[in-house]
Amino acid sequence: MRKLIILGSGAAGYTAAIYASRAQLEPLLLAGAERGGQLALTSDVENYPGFPEGILGPDLMEKFRDQAIKFGTEIVDDAATRVQLRSHPFVVEWASGREEASSVIVATGASAKWLGLPNEQRLRGKGVSGCAVCDGFFFKGKDVVVVGGGDSAMEDSLYLTKFANHVTLVHRRNEFRASKIMQERVRKSPKISIIYDSEVVDVHGASKVEGVSVKSRKTGEVRVIAAQGLFVAIGHEPNTELFRGQLELDEKGYIRTFGPTTATNIPGVFAAGDVRDFRYRQAVTAAGDGCRAALDAEKFLQELSEQEAEKVAAN
Ligand code: NAP
Repeated sequence: MRKLIILGSGAAGYTAAIYASRAQLEPLLLAGAERGGQLALTSDVENYPGFPEGILGPDLMEKFRDQAIKFGTEIVDDAATRVQLRSHPFVVEWASGREEASSVIVATGASAKWLGLPNEQRLRGKGVSGCAVCDGFFFKGKDVVVVGGGDSAMEDSLYLTKFANHVTLVHRRNEFRASKIMQERVRKSPKISIIYDSEVVDVHGASKVEGVSVKSRKTGEVRVIAAQGLFVAIGHEPNTELFRGQLELDEKGYIRTFGPTTATNIPGVFAAGDVRDFRYRQAVTAAGDGCRAALDAEKFLQELSEQEAEKVAAN
């Protein structure tokens, strides 16, 4: 039986693996469907400490992975298909395997929601982005479109005004769901114009974004806005389907953790990174969370082995 299984290969999962393997917990890490997580889908990462020249997201994740392997983490490049966390030991299954474990760290992350436009995925990383903080810097002096009406869309629009020449915010209704204060800031910004009651229906460009088609929901009229960037800010979805009914989730589907630790409602199961955090969602905060989860798991396993030793002594 494994001491620890880690689910997920983003910044949180790999960092948990680095710490856990250095603590000789001999972890097994299931990398999941998207090896490297969301960072593997971005281009330059310029805000991860230690890389003053910046580093490509996929390269950064490969470095995390190499470091985890160096200290003895065993990696399976597959996604868990079923987990049993209700009784101890826990069980994790994937297409070609099954393992039991004394503890589990869930670091399955979150996935940006996309609009599902015909050319959206083709132009991802070529002007289409799901992360203004990650990519905003590359739009200096450019015109960009942001989609959404929540706090993320407000925050992204405001953030992008630092770089972009102009930001057009497109929302499908005539009122935002974002907090009033954020709405106010957006409305007051001279660099942001707002198009209400409208949907982005396509994004254009051969090798990079050149324009965005916006359709009025009132008149049906479609117009093309010249832009070099499209930022989709319509929310994230935590990857928690596998745990529904076992781990306690909040109303948005993120894993609930308790107290100052990464502990979930099930002793021995810990959650780290975007799967439990919708607020910060940064590589460095996810990595920090992975470290915390590994330390929490180590403490849990230590206490478990002390309890077992006591039971043996009592018999
Ligand atoms: P959100 O609050 O769920 O808002 C998503 C927005 O995207 C909504 O306005 C929604 O429109 C729109 N939308 C969803 N699907 C769409 C689609 N297919 N096409 C077009 N528009 C679509 O998500 P969020 O803004 O990411 O915020 C998530 C949570 O994080 C919220 O609780 C938020 O307060 C919090 N947050 C806080 C901060 C902060 O405090 N600084 C920053 C970011 C996020 P409708 O309104 O019509 O449904």
